[in-house]
Amino acid sequence: MNKSINPNIDKIIKHAKTKQYSAEEIANKIIEGDRNFLSKAISILESKKDSDNELADEIVNLCLPYAGNSWRIGITGVPGVGKSTFIDTFGEKLIEKGHKIAILAIDPSSSISGGSILGDKTRMEKLSGRTEAFIRPSPTEGTLGGVAAATRQTIILCEAAGFDRIIIETVGVGQSETAMASMVDVFITLTVAGTGDDLQGIKRGIMELTDFLIFTKDDGDNKKRIYVARKQFETALMMFPPKLSGWYPVVLSVSALENKGIDKVILKLDEFFDRIKQNKYFEINRKQQDIQWLNEQIIYLLKENFFSNDEIQNKIKLIQKQIINNEISPVTAAKLLIKTFFEIN
Ligand code: GDP
Repeated sequence: MNKSINPNIDKIIKHAKTKQYSAEEIANKIIEGDRNFLSKAISILESKKDSDNELADEIVNLCLPYAGNSWRIGITGVPGVGKSTFIDTFGEKLIEKGHKIAILAIDPSSSISGGSILGDKTRMEKLSGRTEAFIRPSPTEGTLGGVAAATRQTIILCEAAGFDRIIIETVGVGQSETAMASMVDVFITLTVAGTGDDLQGIKRGIMELTDFLIFTKDDGDNKKRIYVARKQFETALMMFPPKLSGWYPVVLSVSALENKGIDKVILKLDEFFDRIKQNKYFEINRKQQDIQWLNEQIIYLLKENFFSNDEIQNKIKLIQKQIINNEISPVTAAKLLIKTFFEIN
């Protein structure tokens, strides 16, 4: 169509570009499986604008009844361990089995570096062109709390859009593994062998969270080292008390490059989900995660509102001086500030 046919074409195009969609319109499109609207909605919930905030809440609530029907799979490992190569191959196999996969990331470091190294499409060449895969990098702004909240809501939207395997990846900066654990059904740690101190090489506390410990790059010269390391870990893991899920962590190895071991991972995951669905841990855990999310969100919102309040900020500056001059104790000062905050709200 050109101007000689429709003189209003410029206006129509402008209107289409700036059209504000209602929460219902966006949610309906997501539920139909429209990827553009899914991306649009995720951008809305990552936005800092107050008006977007309300819209995002409405969209998520409308999508909620259509969510929940997925396996939420968390994958962690240091940069270079082979996460993206693994997810690329693993994801392709899941697609072959008829699944639709979404890959999301929790990367609070991106708020410092300004760019996300996780969930980057160029890192997953096989998946990036597939309509059955939806890849979304970590939000690049905000604290871990903010990033985690956005990711949790993104899971809901992706599930409503029909994605039934949700992969969450993190590099494990700060508390990001704990945040990831609080939103997934299964926790996978990828590691490399051969540093000589493998057992110490894994961050403290991570083994307690891990359901699957997977050695990557099980090819070439690495094979021997991995064989030894696997035995070490299998012995070490026996010392841990059984998990609430009733699952004993498994140690596996893969070579994503040689396409080796991935089928076994999928087989074991089937076993894992059979187990936790049978013994109801799947449901119990998700309910507990939702309650934990509620509690965290309350704390997060209180904190955000408190510290971004102008009056409080001014008072804090004054009170800091009083504290430094030993005129008031930090405890009394905190109580005073909280009291002021609730009075003005
Ligand atoms: P990420 O930073 O954890 O996402 O790691 P990448 O997937 O980007 O992989 C880091 C490097 O390890 C790349 O050079 C990959 O080619 C290499 N790599 C990944 N998987 C394998 C594997 O199965 N075998 C070998 N030999 N190298 C691998």
